[in-house]
Amino acid sequence: MQETTVFTYRVSLSPTEWERASDTRRAAGDLWTRLVKIHRFCRRRHWPWPTEPQLKAHFKRRFPLHSQTVQAIIEKFCATIDGVRTKRKHGDKQARYPWRFRRYFNPIFKGQALKIQGQHLLLPLGRGREPIRVHLPLAMPSGTIAQAELGYDEIYLTVTRTIPDPVPVPSSKAGGLDMGVIHLGVVSDGEEALAISGRGLRSVKQGHAKAQAKLRKKRSRTKPGSRRRKRLNRAQHRASQKVDRITHNALHHTANQIVAFCLATGITVLYAGDLGTLNHKKRHRRSRRTNQEVGALEFGRLDLYLEYKLRRYGIQLIKISEADTSQTCPRCGHLNKMAGRTYRCRACDYRAHRDGVGAVNILNKGMYGAIRPGEFLVPPRITYRRPVPLKRALRRSPAEPRHVAGGISGGESGGSLRGSLDPRRSHSGSPRISALRAGRFKSRCLARSSQGNGPRRFPDARTR
Ligand SMILES: [Zn+2]
Repeated sequence: MQETTVFTYRVSLSPTEWERASDTRRAAGDLWTRLVKIHRFCRRRHWPWPTEPQLKAHFKRRFPLHSQTVQAIIEKFCATIDGVRTKRKHGDKQARYPWRFRRYFNPIFKGQALKIQGQHLLLPLGRGREPIRVHLPLAMPSGTIAQAELGYDEIYLTVTRTIPDPVPVPSSKAGGLDMGVIHLGVVSDGEEALAISGRGLRSVKQGHAKAQAKLRKKRSRTKPGSRRRKRLNRAQHRASQKVDRITHNALHHTANQIVAFCLATGITVLYAGDLGTLNHKKRHRRSRRTNQEVGALEFGRLDLYLEYKLRRYGIQLIKISEADTSQTCPRCGHLNKMAGRTYRCRACDYRAHRDGVGAVNILNKGMYGAIRPGEFLVPPRITYRRPVPLKRALRRSPAEPRHVAGGISGGESGGSLRGSLDPRRSHSGSPRISALRAGRFKSRCLARSSQGNGPRRFPDARTR
């Protein structure tokens, strides 16, 4: 089975290489801008749009880029246009054709043209031009490089590799996954549930949004092109990259935990709410605050990670519309508008923790096409986890017993991302979850937390 992943790493270039890389990114930006202009010109006059081969023929040898880079950018442009066109055909009038003129654009280098020389990757710029030399990552991912993209200070390597085919599982069992802000994911098979907290990530993002606002304000007082502005731009970029890495890491860990849950409970088909439609259709109906949260979460990314991670084990990810799944009562089918964190049905007085309701309803809907009342109730026990283990705790050796009551808790706010499994937090007695915990998660925190007596850091969050 072929698997394709994108591997990102940061590069530091010498001043001359940096200059050349910037020139290349600028040339790619020029090409993109030209494409946008041509497309807009034709569209406004109701002329037929130029096709991909026409564009390729037209822009051949006109930019200081490798011929395949030019082709790849044109292909990307055409793919974007096609995507927008289908979206618009399906009634999404918010979808907009590429319109922004780009000063810089990430040039794409195709695999055949790439060369590896010792510890360096050579990004070709076409005949008669020296290639750009960037170092390879210290730990190269296995597989072959199909494509490389040069960012501002990052390289994105698309790597394909052959992985063993998953062993088909004879039984078939379904699970439901609800993705959200408070919890990045809640997954359940109807008997057990696992919730991955999103509070930590949210707090990181909120802090970032505030810091960005401050920087923006400072930036507005500077002159264009000044050294001060350049510095502020760089600071802004660095900060957003950091948040991006934190998000990336948290979502990967979340996806891994969901996969482990599926394996432990034997789920072979996982239904998940399709958030793609939610993101833009209801935009105007939300408050600014909610909009910031929803937009910032990039739900699509978790899907993306999950999809390929699940595929490795032959688990199917099926997306269904998540309409009403958070409001319908799992017991009687009554629609309730919820405000707090506890679900309470007005009709039958069913009470459950709200996080589980979405997951079991998605499972229910996925299996029967619509929510069948009474089919799946929220499991009595929900295991709560955070995506990433505590950073501070990781520094200590795993053998050292944890007797610093309150020591770790001092610096940790309730919403810290750097949390791990607190023994008190998720003392689900379920044997399967325990097995899952013992076997799959080799987190050092876990090894230690099993020795018990951790300080109780989150009095409000326990197993419910
Ligand atoms: Zn009810």
